[in-house]
Amino acid sequence: MRYISTRGQAPALNFEDVLLAGLATDGGLYVPENLPRFTQEEIASWAGLPYHELAFRVMRPFVTGSIPDADFKKILEETYGVFAHSAVAPLRQLNGNEWVLELFHGPTLAFKDFALQLLGRLLDYVLEKRGERVVIVGATSGDTGSAAIEGCKHCENVDIFILHPHNRVSEVQRRQMTTLFGENIHNIAIEGNFDDCQEMVKNSFADQSFLKGTRLVAVNSINWARIMAQIVYYFHAALQLGGPARSVSFSVPTGNFGDIFAGYLARNMGLPINQLIVATNRNDILHRFMSGNQYVKQTLHATLSPSMDIMVSSNFERLLFDLHGRNGAAIAGLMDNFKQGGGFSVEEERWTEARKLFDSLAVDDAQTCETIAEVYEQTGEVLDPHTAIGVKAARECRRSLDIPMVILGTAHPVKFPDAVEKAGVGKALELPAHLSDLFERDERCTVLPNDLKAVQAFVSQHGNRGKPL
Ligand SMILES: *Cc1c(COP(=O)(O)O)cnc(C)c1O
Repeated sequence: MRYISTRGQAPALNFEDVLLAGLATDGGLYVPENLPRFTQEEIASWAGLPYHELAFRVMRPFVTGSIPDADFKKILEETYGVFAHSAVAPLRQLNGNEWVLELFHGPTLAFKDFALQLLGRLLDYVLEKRGERVVIVGATSGDTGSAAIEGCKHCENVDIFILHPHNRVSEVQRRQMTTLFGENIHNIAIEGNFDDCQEMVKNSFADQSFLKGTRLVAVNSINWARIMAQIVYYFHAALQLGGPARSVSFSVPTGNFGDIFAGYLARNMGLPINQLIVATNRNDILHRFMSGNQYVKQTLHATLSPSMDIMVSSNFERLLFDLHGRNGAAIAGLMDNFKQGGGFSVEEERWTEARKLFDSLAVDDAQTCETIAEVYEQTGEVLDPHTAIGVKAARECRRSLDIPMVILGTAHPVKFPDAVEKAGVGKALELPAHLSDLFERDERCTVLPNDLKAVQAFVSQHGNRGKPL
């Protein structure tokens, strides 16, 4: 499989190189040159497979030529073997034909484990083969950091540095990062905000001289391997609900458009999906595009669903590329406009096409709390605020009660106790067994000033299993 850039100028790469690449050299994102397509018979024959075996069948075409089947199977069995639920991604029924796909049974209790557990293992496999080492520098406002550290902690050939804003992440989220020890794990608390952290990561990619020749790898959701891993659970859910003979709808809590883009790909790969619903919080650039053809940056609002607090949606460019007939020059032009003026619209027929593909809704904090309370009353289930946004959007946008509606349950409610408390749900939430002593564990973290040079000096001092590069 070859991968091409959404801006048309960077060289095509194979899977292995895309895994290590991050952004393309022309500023674009990598996408498969040709999407695999499965027949209905083929998809039907996968019913009842264990999660890792289904994952092998869905993802195999994407890694062909880079990873032999037997090795890929072994990697997938290990990856999904660490999940705490035997079904890996169980479906829980809310109402008659309404289901939550629980994607929070991984080590860090959010769906990001599905991709980052795999990414860590794939990196190690590829780096071992090449005899290379890499450094990861990532910024997190919460969920990505812990999932990336958990995914990479056993990697022989990776040193990982995660920057988070000092005193600005929740205690559960901080402890999920700082209680993981290893000579290749480095938590840095920056005396600044999340944007400062992200800016430092961007600047480090732009000038990598501080790494003395070691390669820098991206773990944010622009990494193709993350999207690829998320395609699998759409197949997994649909197969359990009568697919592919019957079509299924999905409502997806969305920030950077990664998870929902994976659903769009599943549909294009042959899975019958009826509705795909984009569910945002008050940071609603995607809903404003879907409902009014305005892709315009606005100020950032802090919400009860912080993992979806974004101003721009980094993966949206991948959809725009398809909407423009895969014309890289057109995308480069749009993105240039966006950079200069902070917004754009697309031609009428392209927007009409987007509206056929997706429904959308923006949900504010008050509605989020109402939904948590409503579902708790109806079912006794406590939803996390992100999942609640998905439920609200599903209920508002649903077109047919006969078609099963699956809401992606993106996080465990225990990660977001503030929202649950605000919703007035009195039930005490317990940390799952593997995290039950989280609040007693020792923490390890370095506080650094909001200064790029200081951070880069720290990385080059510790980037080789804790020793200087
Ligand atoms: C990251 C995250 C999201 C948003 O996912 P995108 O792929 O960025 O759209 C939603 N919910 C939770 C809990 C998350 O951690």
